Amino acid sequence: MRCQQCGSTESKVVDSRPSEDGRQIRRRRECEHCGGRFSTLESLIERPLIVIKRDKSSEPFNREKLLRGLLTATVKRDVPLAVLEELISNVEAELRDLPRREVSSKKLGDMVLARLRDVDDVAYIRFASVYKDFKDVEEFQDALKVM
Ligand SMILES: [Zn+2]
Repeated sequence: MRCQQCGSTESKVVDSRPSEDGRQIRRRRECEHCGGRFSTLESLIERPLIVIKRDKSSEPFNREKLLRGLLTATVKRDVPLAVLEELISNVEAELRDLPRREVSSKKLGDMVLARLRDVDDVAYIRFASVYKDFKDVEEFQDALKVM
């Protein structure tokens, strides 16, 4: 890794620390030429998790996108961000265990809903209304009754 100050490629690692989720290593390096310090981030190159959408197109699983959806569903519901982060990590872990590492958006929605039900009732309904693509009002009300 080239030093930003002098351009030398010789550096030594002075500190290594795993990130909070344990999936990256942050290394503090020192340039052997000028002594400048900089950090690098090392992560495993993984096969991506793929989400197959309703129209059959696919996209990589995106934590941020899912988190945005969950934040919208939990507006004014006082659900800690850490709980949502954990929910997503949980879903992600389950996805990684799938043999083909791909999932339909519907199945993904169901996986999230199954967990969200235990977190917050209102958030569950809000999220379900987006993901389940309710055909009519009755269907939506049926979902409400289950609660
Ligand atoms: Zn340097």
